[in-house]
Amino acid sequence: MKSSSGASSWNGQSASIRCGCNLECAIYTSRRGENAGRRFYRCPRYSTPLTCQFFRWVDDADHTTVDIKYQLTAIEERQTSRTEEQNKDLKLIRCHIKFLCIVMVIVVILLLFKK
Ligand SMILES: [Zn+2]
Repeated sequence: MKSSSGASSWNGQSASIRCGCNLECAIYTSRRGENAGRRFYRCPRYSTPLTCQFFRWVDDADHTTVDIKYQLTAIEERQTSRTEEQNKDLKLIRCHIKFLCIVMVIVVILLLFKK
């Protein structure tokens, strides 16, 4: 079997979906990247210049829902951690300001005493 650089594999299943060439599309499984494990339809001529470049995820609808859920969770987590980071930053800045104030006072006192 000619494996297309290992990026995907043919499951041997055929679907009733037809591509722009009016050819029956096979279902392939993505093996790499974020979409590893996802199945997709692809133009059977994808490796030839004649391809219509048809491409569609098999479970697009389901995955869209799942993706949105995950994305929302991820965004919420990111926002939470960002707020926590900002709070930490603010506390650090306040500490630094207090420290700087103390140092300034000490410097001023030392300068005054030198005179
Ligand atoms: Zn095609």
